[in-house]
Amino acid sequence: MRASILTIGNEILKGRTINTNFSHIGRVLTFAGYDVYRGIVVRDDPAEIAWGITQCVGFSDLVVTSGGLGPTFDDMTVKCISDALGLPVETNAEALSMIKSKYLAQNLELTPERMKMAMLPRGSEPLPNPVGTAPGVFLQYRGRTVIILPGVPSEMKAILDSIISRIKVRDRAYYEDSITLHGVMESTFAPIVAEEMKLAGGSVYIKSHPVSFELNTPVLEIEVSASATDDSAARNLVETTLKRLKAKYDELMNGKTLR
Ligand code: ATP
Ligand code: MG
Repeated sequence: MRASILTIGNEILKGRTINTNFSHIGRVLTFAGYDVYRGIVVRDDPAEIAWGITQCVGFSDLVVTSGGLGPTFDDMTVKCISDALGLPVETNAEALSMIKSKYLAQNLELTPERMKMAMLPRGSEPLPNPVGTAPGVFLQYRGRTVIILPGVPSEMKAILDSIISRIKVRDRAYYEDSITLHGVMESTFAPIVAEEMKLAGGSVYIKSHPVSFELNTPVLEIEVSASATDDSAARNLVETTLKRLKAKYDELMNGKTLR
């Protein structure tokens, strides 16, 4: 199952805000069994948001967005996504009651800005926001699932956590582990990585991450990941490959001078 992530905000493109929402959503979806294919960042601009959601919906079973759900003028995500998908926006009674109870509990009235957060695309389900005010949105659209989350990281995380069990891919488990190898250059180890991936026939993915200087004091972190029908099968694939890689590394270190 393919997933894509659309993060929205001028501050991300300007580099003022580090896109930690993307990393968090990427990790969560990967461990939920999805192949995260694309991550798109767009400005707070209706045409850009429309372009981004159209791209994402076009090639994904699941799309998760973050940013632009609040009450301010630049919070336009829900309206832009609805327009791009051709869905009318209307006051969602359940969302309105979630928002009402938050503000009324503080003796605050419902202003148009606050009520705006209850305007959702027709057919969507509001997702309670335990941390903030704007609810998330869960939407089924032409066989795809679209989840619209706030930009504030703690709110995004809390809402995503609450729906993980609903979006988890059935019969698919992901596992990853890594080893750290000292004294071997990435360029020396590259053919071994390629050979192991070929031997595994696509069942594992191996990625070397250089964590020091290639020419002086090389240190490599070797990450191995696999997806399988259950946890132990995925784990087995990873651990077997790591053992083989470690054995080849030992052979290399015992045998020859590194080049
Ligand atoms: P609000 O109700 O605060 O307006 P919102 O859903 O409209 O929430 P944004 O206005 O887009 O969210 O962002 C709120 C704050 O969350 C930003 O100032 C920024 O610090 C943080 N934020 C937004 N997007 C991201 C992101 N992708 N990664 C990390 N932090 C983010
Ligand atoms: Mg905002």
